[in-house]
Amino acid sequence: MIIDLASVGKNPKTIELEFEPANIDLDDGMQLAENAAFNGEISRDGTRTRVAGRIATVVSTECSRCLEPVAKDIDLEFEAVFVDAADEPTEDEIEVTVDELDESLITDDKIDMTEVVREQLILAMIEKVLCQEDCKGLCPQCGGNRNLIDCKCEENVIDPRWAALKNLK
Ligand SMILES: [Zn+2]
Ligand SMILES: [Zn+2]
Repeated sequence: MIIDLASVGKNPKTIELEFEPANIDLDDGMQLAENAAFNGEISRDGTRTRVAGRIATVVSTECSRCLEPVAKDIDLEFEAVFVDAADEPTEDEIEVTVDELDESLITDDKIDMTEVVREQLILAMIEKVLCQEDCKGLCPQCGGNRNLIDCKCEENVIDPRWAALKNLK
């Protein structure tokens, strides 16, 4: 889904896009559970291009405590600014520019909306996802899912490094 900036001007142009799960490559252990819809606009003023809009989809991932599958609803709004790179800058210059201005550089007068949406989804998924707020997680001793079983490991096994301390009580 490449947008050619030659077709974009100062007046915001509406864009509505839909991405199939196979076309958005998220991080390991995550994938789109349904198509991702983007509704927004793009405008360009001089060397700066602004993309703003909303992304809605469902991402399937795993609970960060018990590793069971979880579907997370995503409905996010974002704004991203892209600046034309003059001539090809060195990597140092790119880092400084991106850090200081929170903008991305583009070098070929095109914006790949698939990549823009992918990055926003990855940012949205950085936050830990839990299957339920009070997920008990996996037992560090037997690996059992403590939401499902009461394995009693904690009561029965004491790490030898702590056993000595326990005797002091
Ligand atoms: Zn869980
Ligand atoms: Zn256990």
